[in-house]
Amino acid sequence: MNKRLKFREMMTMVEGVLADIPEHRKGQNRKYEIKDAGLGAFSVFYLQAPSFLSWQQDMERKRGKNNARNLFGIRRIPSDEQIKNLLDPVAEERIGKVIWQIYHALEERGQLDAYEGVAGARSISLDGTQHHSSQKVHCEQCRVTIRNEKAYYEHQVLMAVLSAPGQNHVVCLEPEFITPQDGHDKQDCEQAAIKRWVQGHAGEFAPWSVTILTDDLHCHQPACALFEKHQMHFILTCKEDSHTTLYEELALLAHVEGAIGAKTVSKWNGRHREQWVYRWAESLPLRRGKDAMLVNWCELTITNEDTGERMYANAWATKHEVNEHTVMAITAQGRSRWKVENEGINVLKNHGYNFKHNYGHGKQHLANVLLTLLLLAFLFHTVLQLGCEMYQAVRRELGARRNFFNDLRALTRYILFDSWLQLLTYMFQGLDLSPG
Ligand SMILES: [Zn+2]
Repeated sequence: MNKRLKFREMMTMVEGVLADIPEHRKGQNRKYEIKDAGLGAFSVFYLQAPSFLSWQQDMERKRGKNNARNLFGIRRIPSDEQIKNLLDPVAEERIGKVIWQIYHALEERGQLDAYEGVAGARSISLDGTQHHSSQKVHCEQCRVTIRNEKAYYEHQVLMAVLSAPGQNHVVCLEPEFITPQDGHDKQDCEQAAIKRWVQGHAGEFAPWSVTILTDDLHCHQPACALFEKHQMHFILTCKEDSHTTLYEELALLAHVEGAIGAKTVSKWNGRHREQWVYRWAESLPLRRGKDAMLVNWCELTITNEDTGERMYANAWATKHEVNEHTVMAITAQGRSRWKVENEGINVLKNHGYNFKHNYGHGKQHLANVLLTLLLLAFLFHTVLQLGCEMYQAVRRELGARRNFFNDLRALTRYILFDSWLQLLTYMFQGLDLSPG
């Protein structure tokens, strides 16, 4: 088996990318480095410890050594204010690069094989979300929206996340920031961001090695043509009220024997029996007109066999071949997007990886730079979940994520460690664990 990607290797990549950021200061005091500012903000997100850096300054004063240097390679610990000033002018793409380096390292070591789905392609969900909203705090990158006659300053981002049915962990890719020029409604804005993301990053993937998942809002011909042009598959939520032409055609096919495939599977969910009904059809028009793209369609409906209650219903458009052998895998992959919304994005927003932080909002790029570093910290934890047995055992033992981060905060405040590996080993041995 290939060697699994380690914390230390990822830190070396992060240091390399941060060291490459060009100097933007002119002549003033350069006691603190941009690299240390980036590593500092990253360490706070990685440990979920807003006070980590000030505690480490205390430790440095008392012992002449500290965990910020030993764990994260921070040479001179900057204050929150210095971090803000040093990172604000940095273009966020400079930091986004390291996410791709980690992705390719995982790929080369076979650590993403379990994410392969229909046609051997991995699914990537593209989802728009908001990461800042305020009536007061704003910067050059804020979008202004008016609600109830009040102006709100907002930042939106298109998150790109790798997921697979049956995989508990989602792998964050570089996001695309939605800019004030992108348009007026959610669809315009996300559409422009999807286009930039695909054009900017299609080269990171071998042809036809990924399947894009999005919600119904982007299940239309321009988006599908964009994916095809860049040799990407797609499985897109396809609702009846927004795809009237396709569903009219489907209604006509219902009169032709055998034109709509169907399959029913009965499953025991631990409490009651469920009926999973799959239906599918090929070559349906995405829109009206002669130049309409033809797509394949499938649907899954789940009902409680005892009560007849409908538990779940959704439908998708795709160019993957849909038949009785592939329909289950295609719908499972389509449904995994729903899981990304719950686990990927909500975990980031609500459960510990709170988008809020100590550094304020900045004037130029700060909000986007910090979100990129936060996603990078989230990616680090995912990589360790995927490949490090000691990390897996500690997380399993501690249960709720807040227990794990509470322990990290306390340990790094009081005890000096030589490295992340030594800290993790300390937790592993203290909990009397064995791998596996
Ligand atoms: Zn802003």
